[in-house]
Amino acid sequence: MNIHEYQAKSLLAKYGVTVPKGGVAYTSEEAKTVAQELGGPVWVVKAQIHAGGRGKGGGVKVVKSTEEVSAAAKAMIGMQLVTHQTGPEGKEVKRVYIEDGCDIARELYLGAIIDRAKDCVTFMASTEGGMEIEEVAAKTPEKILMVSIDPATGIMPFHARKIAFGLGLEGKQVGAAVKFIMALYRAIVDTDASLVEINPLVVTGSGNVIALDAKMNFDDNALFRHKDIAELRDPDEEDPAELEAAQYDLNYIKLDGNIGCMVNGAGLAMATMDIIQLNGGTPANFLDVGGGATKEKVTEAFKIILKDENVEGILVNIFGGIMRCDVIAEGVVAAAREVALSVPLVVRLEGTNVDLGKKILAESGLPILSADDLGDAAEKIVKAVKEAA
Ligand code: ADP
Ligand code: MG
Repeated sequence: MNIHEYQAKSLLAKYGVTVPKGGVAYTSEEAKTVAQELGGPVWVVKAQIHAGGRGKGGGVKVVKSTEEVSAAAKAMIGMQLVTHQTGPEGKEVKRVYIEDGCDIARELYLGAIIDRAKDCVTFMASTEGGMEIEEVAAKTPEKILMVSIDPATGIMPFHARKIAFGLGLEGKQVGAAVKFIMALYRAIVDTDASLVEINPLVVTGSGNVIALDAKMNFDDNALFRHKDIAELRDPDEEDPAELEAAQYDLNYIKLDGNIGCMVNGAGLAMATMDIIQLNGGTPANFLDVGGGATKEKVTEAFKIILKDENVEGILVNIFGGIMRCDVIAEGVVAAAREVALSVPLVVRLEGTNVDLGKKILAESGLPILSADDLGDAAEKIVKAVKEAA
């Protein structure tokens, strides 16, 4: 789960990470009040959406009076902000953050992730602040310093000093950076964050080290023990189909391809996506309907898959262990009728009541292609989609 910049800054500040003072606003009047409380003389109005690149897209404005704060907020709230991370349709700005203007001497980059290859938190630091780290990694990887933290010891001052020196900090900046980095590490471990990105990390004119931007991502599986963080979820920022799926207890993740998948079991769902790819197709989603799905759940799953305009064919791959193949078949038939299915559908059933399941499909009168195994199913759906195109 992602949160907004202002939420991340407030969370990090609790751990001792230095951030500019600021406040959130939902209207231009609120923005003006926040600005008056901050006192100026320079303010920055920042659109709050879950995407980076706001600066270049017109979502960050530096102003010098409370009237200008109010005008900037008015222009931003309700606008469809387009950045390289939002896609061409952009994202509607519903809240803005007003913070103290900062006297920037240097812009640096500091990120930290749960490093699955090394089983620990790894920091990434670079002097190329403001740039996207992916771009730095692709063009000038030598400019990224990686420091991994052994979880047995946790962060030690020498780790933080290594990063500070790598960033070219000197004098009292080093002490400030060490404090900052150690606080950041504590925040990550304590909140079960999977990613934190401070871009830019700024050295101010007076030698302070401060987070000018903050992005945080949390491990969904740990949110149950962070009710305060779970409450920060902004449904406006979530994929509507994923939200709907969650209501029906379906594990659905939208992807970019054109072959919708409905599978039971996460492992089988992964294998299904792989084999579609192996046959030259691309999956439109990951969907695990779970072990004990009902006919209603299957129908909902089907509808969610079909809401994706990119879907040009569907592959249903069910291994009936706990799940009965006849239940799946009934769900597929009901859903296909309800949504007046217009794309090719390949169904591979195996396991409990498979014969009954296949009979239900065959007698439904619907144009369903039946497959015997996973390879056959993938081949059939990729071929059917190509022919229909
Ligand atoms: P994004 O990454 O979405 O573009 P940032 O928060 O990184 O948004 O802001 C973009 C740029 O705007 C920063 O690199 C910095 O130069 C400037 N900026 C952001 N916040 C402030 C601030 N409080 N004071 C001065 N400049 C700022
Ligand atoms: Mg940024």
